[in-house]
Amino acid sequence: MAIKRFYLILFVFLIFLLIGITAKRNTSSDKNPPPFDFITKLKGYQKGNNTKEVHDLKAYLERFGYLNKNEATNGDFDDALESAIKTYQKNFHIKPSGVIDDDTISKMRAPRCGVADIVNGTNYMQPRNKNHLPRPTSIHTVSHFSFFRGEPRWPPAKNHLTYRFSSDFAADLVARAFQRWESDTHFSFSRVGNNQEADIVIEFKQGYHGDGSPFDGPYGILAHSFAPTDGRLHFDADENWSAADIPSADAIHLESVAVHEIGHLLGLGHSAIEEAIMYPTIGSGEVKTNLQEDDIQGIAYLYNYQN
Ligand SMILES: [Zn+2]
Repeated sequence: MAIKRFYLILFVFLIFLLIGITAKRNTSSDKNPPPFDFITKLKGYQKGNNTKEVHDLKAYLERFGYLNKNEATNGDFDDALESAIKTYQKNFHIKPSGVIDDDTISKMRAPRCGVADIVNGTNYMQPRNKNHLPRPTSIHTVSHFSFFRGEPRWPPAKNHLTYRFSSDFAADLVARAFQRWESDTHFSFSRVGNNQEADIVIEFKQGYHGDGSPFDGPYGILAHSFAPTDGRLHFDADENWSAADIPSADAIHLESVAVHEIGHLLGLGHSAIEEAIMYPTIGSGEVKTNLQEDDIQGIAYLYNYQN
C-alpha cells in the first residue's frame, strides 16, 4: 500500500511539475517582442554595416518581394539590400536614402498583410501605364491600385460569390466586410454552411501551414489571401483580434483586415495610397473599413464595367 501511495504522490507531483513548465512557457512566449521589432536594432544602418540582424532584414524584404532568395542568404548590407530598401522607401513614401531611418523603422514594424508588394520583379505599388490595355480610359487621377500577375479575376458572369468558414469565429464581422465590397462593386456575396462548397473559404490558422506563408504570433503578418479564383483567406489565429467599433490601442481590428483581404480575393494587389483599403500595413487600434476611390477604381478597371 505504501508503495502504491508513493507512486500516487509521485504521479501528482509530476503532473504539477508539467503544468508549471507549460505555464512558464506560455508566459515567456507572451513576452516575445512582436516579430518585426528586430528592425529597431538596425537604426542608422547603411551599406557596409554587416551584422547578424541584417540577415533578418533581408529575410523580411525577401518575404515581401523586395529581394530574391539568392540575395537574401548572407548578413551583408550590400548593393542589393540598399537597392531593396530604396524601393521599399519609395513604395511607402519615405525619402529613398537606403539608410534605416526612423520612418523606415516605423513602417517596417507595422503589422501588415502577408501578400508580397513585389512579385517576380513587378512592383505592384508603383503607378504603371495602364493605357496600353484595352480598358476604359476614364481614369484621369493618379491611381495606385494594382493587380496580381496576369490580372486574374472571377469570370464575367460570376458576380455572386459564396463563402464559408471553417468555424463560426468572427463570422458576423467578416460578413460586414463583404457588405462593404457589395455596396461599391458589382459583386454580391452570401454565406453557406461550414461544410458546403463555396467560392471563398475563410480560416483562422496558427503558425506555419505549408503554403509559403508562415504566420508569426501577435502582430507581424496578420492575414493573407490568394488571387482569383483560388478563394482562400487565412487570418493569423494568434492576433489580439478586436470586434469593437473602436479597438483598444493594442488590438487589431478584424473587420478592417477582412475588408483588405477580400480586395485580394477579388483580384486587387497592394496600393501605395495610404488611405486606400489595399495599403499593405495597418496599425494596432486602427480602423479602416470604407473603400476609397482607389480601391473602387481598381475593381472597375479590372472588371471593365463599361462592357
Ligand atoms: Zn494585402
